[in-house]
Amino acid sequence: MDAKTIRQEMIDLLAEGEGAGAREISRALGIPEREIYGHLEHIARSLKARGLRLELQPARCLDCGFVFRKRRKLTPPGHCPSCRGSHLQRPRYRLAAA
Ligand SMILES: [Zn+2]
Repeated sequence: MDAKTIRQEMIDLLAEGEGAGAREISRALGIPEREIYGHLEHIARSLKARGLRLELQPARCLDCGFVFRKRRKLTPPGHCPSCRGSHLQRPRYRLAAA
């Protein structure tokens, strides 16, 4: 698959229901998870022209419940700033109207 095809397939996944996390996208498209974030950044920029945006459902700490609301990076955080735990629910991505 070329990058354009990958991004279109990702957009289709992100448009469905609750959207998707990086692992699901990785599994569905058969590409490494580390490559997902670059494509997501590109998609986020290109969506503006279509009147859409990439909605980030923030990561959450499963130990203390801290929600990473201020985080704008698309990659998952490593540690919780509140309790230093690393048991985190990873972010999800979804298409939404701009
Ligand atoms: Zn925590």
